[in-house]
Amino acid sequence: MDFGLATGSLAQRRTGCIVVGVYERRQLSPSALDLDAASGHALASVLARGDLEGEPGTTLLLHDVAHLACERVLLVGLGRECDFRESRYLTALASAVKALRTTGTAEATLCLPELHVGARDAAWKIEQALIAVMDGTYRFDQLKSKPPAAGHALRKVAFHVADGPDATAGEAAIGRGLAIAAGIVLAKDLGNMPGNLCTPVYLADRARELGSRHGFEVRILEREDLEQLGMGGFLAVARGSRQPPKLIVMEYRGGAGDARPVVLVGKGITFDTGGLCIKPAAAMDEMKFDMCGAASVFGALHAAALMKLPLHVVGIVPATENMPDGNAIKPGDVVTTMSGQTVEILDTDSEGRLVLCDALTYAEKYDPAAVVDVATLTGSIASALGDVASGLFSSSDALARELLAAGDRAWDRAWRMPLWDDYQEALKSNFADFPNVGSGDICADCAVTAACFLSRFTSRYPWAHLDVAGTVSRGGADKGATGRPVALLAHFLVGRAEGNAGR
Ligand code: MN
Ligand code: ZN
Repeated sequence: MDFGLATGSLAQRRTGCIVVGVYERRQLSPSALDLDAASGHALASVLARGDLEGEPGTTLLLHDVAHLACERVLLVGLGRECDFRESRYLTALASAVKALRTTGTAEATLCLPELHVGARDAAWKIEQALIAVMDGTYRFDQLKSKPPAAGHALRKVAFHVADGPDATAGEAAIGRGLAIAAGIVLAKDLGNMPGNLCTPVYLADRARELGSRHGFEVRILEREDLEQLGMGGFLAVARGSRQPPKLIVMEYRGGAGDARPVVLVGKGITFDTGGLCIKPAAAMDEMKFDMCGAASVFGALHAAALMKLPLHVVGIVPATENMPDGNAIKPGDVVTTMSGQTVEILDTDSEGRLVLCDALTYAEKYDPAAVVDVATLTGSIASALGDVASGLFSSSDALARELLAAGDRAWDRAWRMPLWDDYQEALKSNFADFPNVGSGDICADCAVTAACFLSRFTSRYPWAHLDVAGTVSRGGADKGATGRPVALLAHFLVGRAEGNAGR
């Protein structure tokens, strides 16, 4: 997909389709008013017939409108002007792309970034529009036996902006949007790839590929290396699988060589059966998405490298399957983690924290400026926050603020959850230092005690944890990876590169 800016007269613009907004009730947006005036009020007279009221999510396609040089005009319902905010803007973009996909147009001019969206500037609106177009045209069809008929003809999208500062900001926004969208596509592709193909070996190969594309260093630690490091948590999970585990380390050095890095750690369980505490069969296929934290780390590094951010970033991905097997861990097993702390494994389905804890200890060797881990850790975070916000836990208020702000800028939002000592009380074992799940009134799947568990391995650096189990994938008819929270991470890295740490 090609993206560009368009300025100047809309009426004379030769393009396949011009997309303009209509508020309830039949109230034309500025560009729609321009087209209406140039066409002898063709738009107003169609609306007067009652074909589009302007409700959110509705569209109306007009062909060969008199006196306009474009082939089509797509009217997009925006809802009431006073209610028009970020989520309505994204709804309008998604409905526009959906409608464009049903047409034969190869080129479209989008006027929606002209709309007032709270206090958002032109750059924000263009970046979001670009990502929405990429999102709405994304398909995962590499495993179909026949190449599917192209779902749409759309090849080029121009964002119509006023000349001047908006155009300058627009160019930069397109560059940033393209990089973030590419990171999102990578994360979606990795997430959607099934567990028989997307194995730890596959992830390691894709990491090497990414490294050679961007010229950054990639190291893969094998089982023997993990044994030498004493990664008893990671190895405990891996022992149930026939697939060899891989600790993938990607190091992007865009900044000064001696700068302390930002470390991103992504949970890379390429398939989670639950182990001997096996999961129910229904929707178990969606457990291929249990490596989406890892996928988002790949995506964020890809985006950072495309943006050539002047920053030192390390991505660490512990990758393994969690399988039931004669050699698999059993409830009650006690293992020694790389930190030296012992863990009683009460629930083999709480495997994510067992692989993450060793990766988080390994991160210490980089003397990191900050560590952010991203993991599909608990179902309970999805019960709490749904698919809207990722759960954020942090031992550092400054880092938490930074990530919340990045999520807001990216519109890939997170919501902060507590890490209070009161919750730490739930992690008590009679046989080891602590168990891998909480007990007492706290459910085994509790997102807060999961974060408390991780906090015991992260005291040496500013740390945050994103529980993304509710946001990285969708079930149902739209089943698939969403590419979250690549945009959040990318904006976090942009902020770091601009020197906004802890602001
Ligand atoms: Mn699990
Ligand atoms: Zn898992």
